[in-house]
Amino acid sequence: MERYRKKVLYSRDVIDERVKALAGQVSRDFSGKDLIVVGVLKGSFMFMADLIRAMTIPCTIDFIRLASYGSATVTSGKVRITKDIETPITGRDVLIVEDIIDTGLTLAFLKEKLLERNPRSLKFCTLIDKKHRRKVEFHSDYVGFDLDQGFVVGYGLDFDEKARYLPDVYVLEE
Ligand code: 5GP
Repeated sequence: MERYRKKVLYSRDVIDERVKALAGQVSRDFSGKDLIVVGVLKGSFMFMADLIRAMTIPCTIDFIRLASYGSATVTSGKVRITKDIETPITGRDVLIVEDIIDTGLTLAFLKEKLLERNPRSLKFCTLIDKKHRRKVEFHSDYVGFDLDQGFVVGYGLDFDEKARYLPDVYVLEE
């Protein structure tokens, strides 16, 4: 990562504002429902913690970890679950929280797998959506930021496991 310069793309204040707005939407939409929020590890951990804290409705939480075969920065499309959720989701309202949707391959796989368990509803919330990069059609119900280009780190997002701890989102520049 040393060969890149980091430029703040979304400051913590800007993130905070967007997360609060998303939490408001989620709270309205899931009011009175049996909500389970599932974070996709590791990238979503900070976003999910902030989102839940800003929500005004109760929920239970769980985590899932996925691995894609291939390099660290390019998704191959072959995805597998390396840590499954521990909560049954049949008949429940599930909100998946992800850091970034890029090609859409990861979440398209996850959606197919989770629908086999017959949740009452299955929705997706992503901090960052790189819509134009899709290789498969995938729609996220809640989006923090739309991003056209660039590789971003910080606020849970890594570059080779580095930079997750940073409180702002940075774009890497050569
Ligand atoms: P895809 O949608 O292509 O299947 O995969 C999305 C995953 O690729 C994200 O969860 C994330 O791990 C990784 N990814 C895609 N773009 C970026 C980026 O700009 N920064 C970081 N840190 N990870 C990214």
